[in-house]
Order: sequence, then C-alpha cells, then structure tokens
Amino acid sequence: MSADCIFCKIASGDIPSKKIYEDEDVIVFNDIHPIAPVHFLIVPKLHIESLLSCEGQHQTLLGRMLLLAPKLAKEQGLPGFRIMINTGHEGGQEVFHIHLHVFGGSVSLPKT
Ligand code: 5GP
Ligand code: ZN
Repeated sequence: MSADCIFCKIASGDIPSKKIYEDEDVIVFNDIHPIAPVHFLIVPKLHIESLLSCEGQHQTLLGRMLLLAPKLAKEQGLPGFRIMINTGHEGGQEVFHIHLHVFGGSVSLPKT
C-alpha cells in the first residue's frame, strides 16, 4: 500500500467506489468519470506504479487481470469491449497505480 495512492485507498475500503468484483488480489470498480456506457477499472491490490514497473514476478497477476475483462464484460452484458492501459505521463496515465480500463456499450471510440 502506498500512503497517497487513491487506488490503494479504494482497495482498502478507505475511499468508497462502485465495486463490481473483488478477490484477494484484484478489485474492479466503475470509473468515476466514465467515457463509455460501461467503463470499469481492473486494479491489482498490490501497488505497482505502471506497466513500466512490471517484471516477470507480475506475470500471473497481469494475466489474471486480463482474463477478468471478458468474464466481467460478459456479466455486464457486453458482446465486445475495449481495453486500455495508459502507461506513464506520456501515455496519458493520471493515477500511478496500474489499472486496466474496460470500455463497452454503444460508443464511438477512436480507431487506433
Ligand atoms: P489513467 O489516465 O490513470 O489511466 O486513468 C485514471 C482513471 O481513474 C480516470 O479515468 C479517472 O476517472 C479514474 N479515477 C480517478 N480517481 C478516481 C476515484 O476516486 N474513483 C474512481 N472510481 N475512479 C477514479
Ligand atoms: Zn496504489
């Protein structure tokens, strides 16, 4: 846990969130400023700053986060979805605790 990290505080329950899933390693909650009809964040409880800080020891955790996306998307009734991981200031990252954005619903997203 990092003292000033908003996602660590959400993971510990100190800050409330609209949680849609939790297990011992991961918490998933709706983004506070959604940019799609469905927009949730898959967040590890372990404080890792970004994908740039990940190493081999994080492989299983990252795989689990990725596999949660289709499971939870299906539960939310999404036939498809988009994943984004903003990485570093240059990559548009604002919260420096790694997270996967999952977007779905009828929404126009940039074709990248
Ligand atoms: P980033 O640019 O770091 O990938 O995105 C961080 C995301 O976290 C943003 O989409 C922002 O709306 C979301 N966010 C920031 N603070 C909070 C919060 O306190 N609660 C929730 N649910 N989402 C947050
Ligand atoms: Zn954190």
